[in-house]
Amino acid sequence: MSRQTSSRVAVLGAGVMGTGIAALAVGSGVPVVLVDIDEERLAKARAEVARQVRLAQFLGHLSATTTAGELETTTDLARVAGATAVIEAVTERMEAKAAALAGASAVVAPGTLVVSNTSAVPIDELAQHVTRPADLVGIHFMNPPYLIRTVELIRGPRSGDAAIRAAEQLLAELGQASVLVGDGPGFVINRILQRAINEAARVVEEGIATPEAVDAVFTGCLGHRSGPLATGDLIGLDNVVDSLHVLLERTGDEGYRPCELLLTKVKAGEFGRKTGRGFFDYEGAQ
Ligand code: NAD
Repeated sequence: MSRQTSSRVAVLGAGVMGTGIAALAVGSGVPVVLVDIDEERLAKARAEVARQVRLAQFLGHLSATTTAGELETTTDLARVAGATAVIEAVTERMEAKAAALAGASAVVAPGTLVVSNTSAVPIDELAQHVTRPADLVGIHFMNPPYLIRTVELIRGPRSGDAAIRAAEQLLAELGQASVLVGDGPGFVINRILQRAINEAARVVEEGIATPEAVDAVFTGCLGHRSGPLATGDLIGLDNVVDSLHVLLERTGDEGYRPCELLLTKVKAGEFGRKTGRGFFDYEGAQ
């Protein structure tokens, strides 16, 4: 089924979240231009987006009769110029986000929605780097976006009403529900979750419980779908450490200082699912 849409989404960053958001959009019939500074990432992204769309259709999370939106991959930021919305999903480092947001917001038309998918950087801090702060909001998509259909929608102090409305319209087109929250380091989810992952890693570091036991009490006793360490592996432990640094620097709260075990795993390249090993093993798993 071909759907009429005038939307064209630019996604900045072709990593875990950028490819996931691109898959949700093209699978919903919306054309996407996917930008990264790394050619190798882009080369892999096309196959990854196609894989996620196929899987989501197979599982019934995306309609198999919707004609997929076109996917363009590029390192040329100027290609975002015609987009009706820009979604930034680059590395959780301020320099990377500032560069991507400044470059993209300078080439899109005034009034074009600009979104950051940051895990923890306050939207008002990112607003300093865009051409028009009123056009910027935060949307915290979950991983993978085609499966988890509710997002945190973050209104910064300078986000305009029109941008919030545009974000709600875009989310409706992508089949996502939203919960509107205010600004601050980590917003709601990551202010709580990143600290929990850090504390869970510390419990393992202190020899109080194995990773299996930590997660088993969350799934078995509390009924959570996933324990904090499996969640950390799904997010990417490199991203968890970056987010903890963002939270520590902005709050001064020592509870956010990444524990040694997390730092050791990241140094060893054990990022979780995306590298095949983190707290748990994923070799051979897709
Ligand atoms: P990732 O490391 O998998 O991918 C980041 C990508 O950004 C890389 O491909 C990198 O080359 C690219 N990049 C860096 N600088 C760039 C620039 N200036 N322009 C274009 N591309 C650039 O990271 P990720 O896990 O996809 O996280 C992306 C963002 O989404 C982060 O802000 C993260 O905190 C947030 N987030 C992550 C998750 C998760 O579960 N992984 C969930 C919600 C939000």
